[in-house]
Amino acid sequence: MTRLMRFLATLPLAVLSLAAPASEQRPLNEYFRETWTTRQGLPHNLVQGVAQTPDGYLWFATWEGVARYNGIEFRSFDRANVPALADNGIRSLLVTRNGALVLGTSRGGVTLLRDGEWSRLDMRNGLAQDEIMDVAEDRRGRLWVATESAGLDRVDGSNIRHYGLEEGLPSRSMYLVTAHADGSVWAGTTEGLVRVREDGVDRYGSENGLPPGPVFDIAFDPDGSAYVGTERGLYRGVDGRFSVASAELPVDAIQRLLFDRAGNLWLGTVNHGVLRLRDGHVEVLGSEVGLPNDRVAALFEDREGSVWVGTNGGLLRLRDAPFVTYTNEHGLPDDYVRSVLQTADGTLWAGTSRGLARWHGTHFEPLAAQHPALGDSVLSLADDKAGGLWVGTYANGLLHWKDGKLATWTTGDGLAGNQVRAVATARDGTVWVGTARGLSRRRNGQWRSFSPADGLPREFIITLHAAADGRVWIGTANGAAVAEGDAITPLALPGPEQIEDVFGFHEDADGTIWMATDRGLVRHRQGKAAVISRRQGLSVDTVFQVVEDNAQQFWLSSNRGVLRLSRAEAEAAADGKLNTVTVEMFGEADGMASAQCNGGSGPAAWRGADGQVWVATAMGLSSVDPARLGRFARSAPPLVIEEVRVDDRALPARDALDLAPGTRKVELHFAGLSYLMPQKIRYRYRLDGFDPDWVERGNRRFAQFTNLAPGEYRFRVSAANAGGDWNTDEASLVLRVAPQLWQRSGFWAGVFLLVLLLLYFAYLARTRQLRANERRLRELIDQRTQDLRAQTERLTAADAEKSALLVRLQEHADAFERQAREDALTGLANRRWFDEQLALAFARAVREGEPLTLALVDIDHFKRINDRYSHATGDAALRRVADLMRSQLRPQDLIARYGGEEFALLFPATNLEQARHVAERLRAAVEAGDCSAFASDLHITVSIGLAERSGSVHHERLVSQADVHLYEAKHAGRNQVRG
Ligand code: GH3
Ligand code: MG
Ligand code: MG
Repeated sequence: MTRLMRFLATLPLAVLSLAAPASEQRPLNEYFRETWTTRQGLPHNLVQGVAQTPDGYLWFATWEGVARYNGIEFRSFDRANVPALADNGIRSLLVTRNGALVLGTSRGGVTLLRDGEWSRLDMRNGLAQDEIMDVAEDRRGRLWVATESAGLDRVDGSNIRHYGLEEGLPSRSMYLVTAHADGSVWAGTTEGLVRVREDGVDRYGSENGLPPGPVFDIAFDPDGSAYVGTERGLYRGVDGRFSVASAELPVDAIQRLLFDRAGNLWLGTVNHGVLRLRDGHVEVLGSEVGLPNDRVAALFEDREGSVWVGTNGGLLRLRDAPFVTYTNEHGLPDDYVRSVLQTADGTLWAGTSRGLARWHGTHFEPLAAQHPALGDSVLSLADDKAGGLWVGTYANGLLHWKDGKLATWTTGDGLAGNQVRAVATARDGTVWVGTARGLSRRRNGQWRSFSPADGLPREFIITLHAAADGRVWIGTANGAAVAEGDAITPLALPGPEQIEDVFGFHEDADGTIWMATDRGLVRHRQGKAAVISRRQGLSVDTVFQVVEDNAQQFWLSSNRGVLRLSRAEAEAAADGKLNTVTVEMFGEADGMASAQCNGGSGPAAWRGADGQVWVATAMGLSSVDPARLGRFARSAPPLVIEEVRVDDRALPARDALDLAPGTRKVELHFAGLSYLMPQKIRYRYRLDGFDPDWVERGNRRFAQFTNLAPGEYRFRVSAANAGGDWNTDEASLVLRVAPQLWQRSGFWAGVFLLVLLLLYFAYLARTRQLRANERRLRELIDQRTQDLRAQTERLTAADAEKSALLVRLQEHADAFERQAREDALTGLANRRWFDEQLALAFARAVREGEPLTLALVDIDHFKRINDRYSHATGDAALRRVADLMRSQLRPQDLIARYGGEEFALLFPATNLEQARHVAERLRAAVEAGDCSAFASDLHITVSIGLAERSGSVHHERLVSQADVHLYEAKHAGRNQVRG
């Protein structure tokens, strides 16, 4: 009940975000992308469905069970720990309106998870035993189950209504079933789209403008039209008439569709990855920019607005993050960015280690094409009043670029050094140049250089700033100095720690200078300097650049990310009125490709005219729009108590737990279910009856109590997103520790009475004992001897039993070990084993420089075998094909059942040509194989796709290449080898 209320409480938020205008959205290639594969704990890389339950958990359907994600780790549920699952292959997930999770498995069988209990949907009334492709819930709460070859079933309690050919379906092979909010139910079959009514079925096919063949998915636009994903692209239907949705879309099968809350339509394709249709415009995101695989099997938008993409090769999450990072992908000549500057005409420039680039609103244009010198490594940038751009290079001196003309100065012209780390231009036209070998000044066409002999603290100049009052501030590797006229005066910098490197200056309107240094932020005002360092709460020692945004916030770049602190707090700390400043850190979880910013060159960060802050990093140019930060308002995440460990034994978390007397240790594990920055969620807890106040835990997700006194306690835990408020809807659990016997009231009075009684009995016993004679003693001894003998016999028997048990345990362990690697039907190895072997063989082949070829074999028209004969015959055919192939293999080759009627083979030390021979032999053997033993008149053929390792691309790539070739073999008419 509380879960449901929590779920409902999130709804107004979703409605609010719906209202966000689409124009505020970023282009798809600026979304922050993260990927997960088996390496991060996914049970399998093929993710066919995603869902979010009301408690906040995300669920991923894979071939190896369903995985529950709490933002930090995956927990798998499969047949090993959920007996109610018919199979590990989960094809579809659905969350019903009452909060249950519904799973459709590939063996048939619908499994439900509700309030922590797993159960199987009652099938006594004849729900088809067939692979479940999709499940939907209609407006009346009835479940619709679409099967792979047995039509559609409507489940209403224990009442099942079947839809097949007689009821009007064009085909019994289904791909999807979806319920529209208006109460209608739609289904996609191999022969077109249908709308299912109480009393029949309306078909939509070529006469309605749809292409012939399968319909994979359907999505309803709030405007009343429907989008249909087919084998030949996307169709849009209005009032039952369909036409091609957009001429801009590539021709490809569309397997998945999703309308997000902003009204964009997301498309999951077979060969082109993810597409997004926005205002009639198509954006593409494929494997070349980080999608784990181009074949998309699932699309889902979670409650925080992140879009999750399940593919054949892993999971991708796209989200709008505070920072956008521009890299090579957006046209930068190199990802190592050292300086950023906006000139007075509004142009934004980036200096990278492979030259200068200019921002065009959506991409960068490298300037090397205009002049080769502009392709040199750039260390510093500055503009001048005349609209020219000064470029300091790493090795080639100083450049000046204006109206397509380039001028160059090097040591030959009087420059102190050719490594130009800083440039500053003064109002009077003077140009100051900081090099690694001293400072140079150009005034009225004349160069003059300054060295330590002229008062420079050090030759190595890091940064320069021409102040409004005409003075020039100089940052060196040995403190700062100020130049006024020809005189250079070193600055006294505040302690307590010695400041060496001065990386950047920022000037206020009143002439106050803020310096970014290797020991914090320094404020220099009217001759007085004060420092804000780690002691005042700065989270790093070294900061590279300070900029201020339109909301009086300072942004500091550092090696560990970007820091934000309010100017008001910085001023108060510098005045000694505030002990600790509040610093917010932004890094990789916030959309920076790397938290490592660059310094020692400059400007290392810049506040654009539009208020955006740009930061040069080791992995691209990152930017943040402070005005947009509000949209990432960090509302508190829902909380779950995941597990309770009592004396190191795990118990499922319930509302109340009774603990045995003498319980030593209680450990409670909890998780805040936000997926935006899960590492940054902060926790606090409180055990009422024990803790006087909240205990803050930082990002640690458990609490531990030892030796709790008997009594009743309430454990409460609350969470907050980084920079956000504490969750008021806390999770809680009652712990009751039972007292030990001696801790109960009345115990000691009882003990006193007992002692009196005992004394009395002892007295009686003693007198009786004295009366006992020698005979009784002997009897006693005989009795004891007999007891001992009996005990010895029992022990010997128990020992024998234990040995037998150990043998059986070992046998079981062996059997489990085999099952884990073996496919029970064919006796071949299974996919898990094969994936492990592939990774090993691949690494070996790369190491030895040997060829390696992989083959994917898929039985042609296998479904027809199941349909025409029976499922059992299908199984026999699978075994037959497995045997036939096994007999053709060379000793070094590996074979496995890869899933369904697909097999994978690995040919070590074999190139494509040799593998083609083996594959051809396999194909011929299957074609010639005799199946009369179990099915008369059955001829089986297979299609084979090959891929050879080249370079050292990842081995998962090998699988997807073979898959593509298999697809080609299928399209070319089957019963053939491609690759
Ligand atoms: P294609 O030539 O395009 O490969 O057609 P197909 O019918 O072989 O391909 P499809 O992938 O559409 O169907 C595969 C079928 O294999 C669907 C599924 O019911 C069946 N299948 C999967 N595993 C088993 C199994 O263990 N036993 C049996 N009998 N059938 C299975
Ligand atoms: Mg297949
Ligand atoms: Mg097949």
